[in-house]
Order: sequence, then structure tokens, then C-alpha cells
Amino acid sequence: MAHKEVGTKRKLEKEDMVSQCTSIVIGGHYLVKRKNNELASAEIIQERYNDSKKTLEYYVHYVCLNRRLDEWVSNEGQDSDSSVDDVEKEHEELTKVKYIESIQLGMYEIDTWYHSPYPEEYGKQTKLFICEYCLKYMKLEKTYRFHLGECTRRHPPGKEIYRKGTLSIYETDPADHRIYCQNLCLLAKLFIDHKTIFYDVEPFLFYILCEVDKHGSHVVGYFSKEKVSPDGHNVACILTLPPFQMKGYGKLLIAFSYELSKLEGAVGSPEKPLSDLGLLSYRSYWSWTLLDILRELHGAVTIRQLSQLTSIAKADIISTLDSMNLIKYWLGQEVICVTPSIVHERILSAQYKRPRLTVDKSEILWHPRPRVMCQNQYQNGHTSQSMEGEEDDDDDDEMHEGHQETSGGADNGDDEEDTQNSHGEDSEYHDKEHSNC
Ligand SMILES: [Zn+2]
Repeated sequence: MAHKEVGTKRKLEKEDMVSQCTSIVIGGHYLVKRKNNELASAEIIQERYNDSKKTLEYYVHYVCLNRRLDEWVSNEGQDSDSSVDDVEKEHEELTKVKYIESIQLGMYEIDTWYHSPYPEEYGKQTKLFICEYCLKYMKLEKTYRFHLGECTRRHPPGKEIYRKGTLSIYETDPADHRIYCQNLCLLAKLFIDHKTIFYDVEPFLFYILCEVDKHGSHVVGYFSKEKVSPDGHNVACILTLPPFQMKGYGKLLIAFSYELSKLEGAVGSPEKPLSDLGLLSYRSYWSWTLLDILRELHGAVTIRQLSQLTSIAKADIISTLDSMNLIKYWLGQEVICVTPSIVHERILSAQYKRPRLTVDKSEILWHPRPRVMCQNQYQNGHTSQSMEGEEDDDDDDEMHEGHQETSGGADNGDDEEDTQNSHGEDSEYHDKEHSNC
């Protein structure tokens, strides 16, 4: 246990804690020794008794650190720290405890990042087992193994609308596959911080990216999109699962969302706010796309024309050009200010490298729905784009944001066309209605 000595009173508190462990209270602030041996101020969010270790554990949120790093720790390692009481916090966020620490998904055991409202006892497991094909979630490994032998699905439900090499994208409509889409949202929430949940999935379409091999199509990421978006959003929520990040899949999904917008004849923009990593991926995509056009163009070009060519909203174009110092303001208007040499210089810089994966438009088998075209068509984009700090990794593919309203029920399990089943003593499937947890 590591300690920070802060006078006599503090020492007494510490001794109390050591002798009785009763000075650790939920809501209190303590110094916690993290895995890297650094001390960090943390708030105690929840406690539990770990049967296997025969010890109390505490779920802690590290002040000033991303909630992805929240974790369970044993009672060794905390020391009261009253100096952080004034830190602002969002109570709702802090009361959400991440019980599920890891999932088994196909061949990957993945550490989770955030709380996800899996219903009832599923949400209290330390580890969940999830079928990578139908996204059923199970508590016990033996049930999971049994399911793998029974499950006949080998790719997401819906229509395959893109195939290029070993990559495939499916469009899945919750109107036909509600449970799959709900399960996808629950899975995604484990890696998405700010997202309200989402049993009411029907206003959205889901575009699911898979790696294809001889065994089947393995989900690696997805984005969701409102069927009708009065605000012109072409992405509601976007995520690359952790084992598949840093491979260019995130920007491929972004590029695909804009290709769909082009086919709709619409301009689109992701829902805000973007996560820090999401903004990086978007900024990288926008930067490269605009530079690629600017280097081919000769003569004057307007922001409106760039928007029409790329389906990127004008506000996103302006903020991106601004970040590259390619825009000036003259008489209250934005003026693109580039020369061939400036564009060439930007393209050569490491910050704006070509995406690893690009969409082959000739392989898209998709046509817009008429109602989406008329509702989604707009040109003005958004009035502002949050500008967060740039980081050096423009290939970081974890990205997301967006929202879906909470209501209705959550069923675990297969799509409606599949048979719900229960396996022995560990009844993993249920059909109760759940509200948001
Ligand atoms: Zn399955």
C-alpha cells in the first residue's frame, strides 16, 4: 500500500482503514496505486466481495483520467486524499459501474472500457461470452461452447452491400433483425463512453464491417445511421472493436458512410460530440480527402463545391481547412487559401497520410431509400465543430458517438427468425422486457 502523508489526522484515517477497512466509503477519494505503480487520485464508485480472492474490491474512477481506465481494485492501494473533492464530475456517469471486465468474442478475449447496460445478472458478470456471429451473450463458458456448436449463423443478418477481397459490409435493418442490432449496441457500449442506450434501434440502419475467412464473416466494426435524419447526420455511432483498431478500418467505415451519402446525393456529418479518438479519425479522413481534391483541381474552388464533391458538410470542411491553415477570413467570409506547393507540402507531411484502406466504389451494391434521399438532403451542415487537441496517431480507429433513445425491451439471443432456446441449468436466454439499466 502506498501512502501520502498529510498530517496527523490523515495518519489516523489511514490506520483506521488498515485495521478495519471501514474508512473506505463509496464516494470518497483515495490514492490508488495503479498497475504501473503510479499513484492516482480516485473516487470509489462501488464495492463488492470477490469470492475467489476472499477480499473486498472497489470500483474506482481515476480523477482526470478517461473513464476507460476505471477498474476494480482490492482494498490495498487506497489512501484518503481530500484534495480532490472539488473536481467536477458527472454524477450519472460516475455511478455507472463497469462490472463486465472482459468479453470473449470469437478468438479474442477483450478487456472492456466502459459500462454497458446488459440486462439483469448478465450486466453483473465479470466476463461475458458473446457469439461473434449472432452476438448472443452468455454467462458461462460451457453454455457458450454449446452454443458455438449449435449456432448456424456465419455472418451478420441483412444484405451484403460491399465485398472487396476479405472485407465485407452488411446493411442490417432492425425492423427485420431487432435483437441482433440491440446486441450489437450492447456490445459497442462496452467501448463507447458517452452514448445513451438503445433498445429502440428501429430508427437506425446498421452497417457492419467484417473480415471474411473460410470460417465466416467476423465483425470488426460498424456504424449506425438514422433512417431519416432531419439534421443531416450520416453516422450516429461508429466503432472499431479494440482487436481490430490501428488497421485502417475506422477510416474505411468513415469513407463508406460518405460514399453512401454521395449515392443519396446528400451532404452528411457525424453526430456530435465526437470522442477524442473519433475526432482524430474524422479529421484525418477529412484532411486527406480535401487535400486529394485540392491537388487535382486547377483554378478557384468554393467550399460549397468541395462539399458537393465529397458529401462532407461545409462546417466540417471549414474546420478541417482551418486546422491545416488553409483558410483565411476576408470580409467575414471564409476563403480557401492554397497554392499547389502548399497542398503538396501538406500531402507530404506525416500528419496527412493516405488512408491504408479505401472504398472501391464499384463494389458497392446499394441504392438509397427514397425517403432517406428527400429527408436527408441538405447542404449547410452544422454550425460548429468541436475542436479537440490533435494527437499524433491519425490511424487510431476507435471512434464513435451518437445516441439512441432508451425504451422498450431487450432480448438476448438470435434474430426473430432463429429459435430462442435455453440450455440446461444456466438459462442464458430470456424474453423479458427491460428498460434501460
Ligand atoms: Zn451464435
